Amino acid sequence: MNNPLESARQQLVNIQAILQINPNIFERLLYPDRMIEVAIPVKMDDGTTKIFTGYRSQHNNARGPYKGGIRFHPGVTREEVMALSMWMTWKTAVVDIPLGGGKGGVVVDAKGLSDQELEALSRGYMRAIYPLVGKNRDVPAPDVSTDARTMGWMLDEYEMLPGECSPGVITGKPLSIGGSLGRDYATAQGAFYVLERAAAKLHLGKESTIAIQGFGNGGCHLAHMLEKSGYRVVAIADSKSTVYRSAGLDVKEVDEHKRVTGTLKTCIGCEKLPSEAVLSLPADILVPAALENAIHRENAEAVQAKIIVEIANGPTTPEAEEILLGKGVTVVPDILANAGGVVVSYFEQVQNAINYFWTETDINVKLKEKMETAIDAVWNEKERYNTSVRMGAYALAVKRVAQAMQDRGRG
Ligand code: GLU
Repeated sequence: MNNPLESARQQLVNIQAILQINPNIFERLLYPDRMIEVAIPVKMDDGTTKIFTGYRSQHNNARGPYKGGIRFHPGVTREEVMALSMWMTWKTAVVDIPLGGGKGGVVVDAKGLSDQELEALSRGYMRAIYPLVGKNRDVPAPDVSTDARTMGWMLDEYEMLPGECSPGVITGKPLSIGGSLGRDYATAQGAFYVLERAAAKLHLGKESTIAIQGFGNGGCHLAHMLEKSGYRVVAIADSKSTVYRSAGLDVKEVDEHKRVTGTLKTCIGCEKLPSEAVLSLPADILVPAALENAIHRENAEAVQAKIIVEIANGPTTPEAEEILLGKGVTVVPDILANAGGVVVSYFEQVQNAINYFWTETDINVKLKEKMETAIDAVWNEKERYNTSVRMGAYALAVKRVAQAMQDRGRG
């Protein structure tokens, strides 16, 4: 299995071959500024104390405070969190928001914990990283298997000792305590704007068919949006199975079925296939919305899509991307396609700072503008350097970060 840190570093090496930025800055960008590992003791419901391992990686803050989510997942590793923090640096730079890159993770199967244990773990994690975070220092947010409720517990824990409200320290909060309208579906909304623009650039219209791998926050919201706007979502997969119907699935029905039964396996009116099948089914647009390394050297050749829109972070390995590019597939990279989440996190921070809240329409109008400006700028870079969309996005981001490093005398 590919090591995500190797992939992240390889991508930086690839863009350096094109850009030739100051080598001292390049060298520094290969490493996070700081990485901490914490032990989080949790008193379990059965009375025993269990120790969970957590990480926070602060990759770069040249353009603003470190920013990035916290994931709860059994597969979390030190190197994965480092890679994810690096991708956050490029992501915030691609969409040109005044933030840097960071990421956190806890090695845990959140589904196996009771609500009480989950709350204790969330509070314990925040206590452990407390000295590192702050609204002008490092601002966490949700990621895989964490949500508004998790952020609410963490904010409460953070504010407990100083006894002072500080909503801007964390984003993706519940609306009742300073969250932003539109944040819960922002990743999908941003991806939707990017997908539409990318499809138009490649002359694909609403008749396009879509396959989505991953039915969590990103994948599920996006499936609804695409169906509503007239696309045919033909395949959806969760980690256990794929459901497929060439005439188009009924997304509402699939969603409801999954909510009620917890599985896609028993959906009716569609073919049931293994989870990985989603990647190679006939569909014009493939959206990997699960985890890293979904498309790798062994399965890339079987992809039939014309466009891949990465909602997950790091779903395509560099070797897989080479194969895909060779087949003429356009890969719209994670650092552009899934940036809607952090863009609305930024809007949330702005609203917290001015203590005034915008309407949902305000948010989505601003988000659309950000995402479209970003994809157009990426396309320009792609054309300027005659390279892939990912390298176009990297060119834009790395130049912006390098400029900020230079201006701070960090070269
Ligand atoms: N976890 C999300 C991401 O990977 C959102 C990060 C944020 O809002 O800070 O982009």
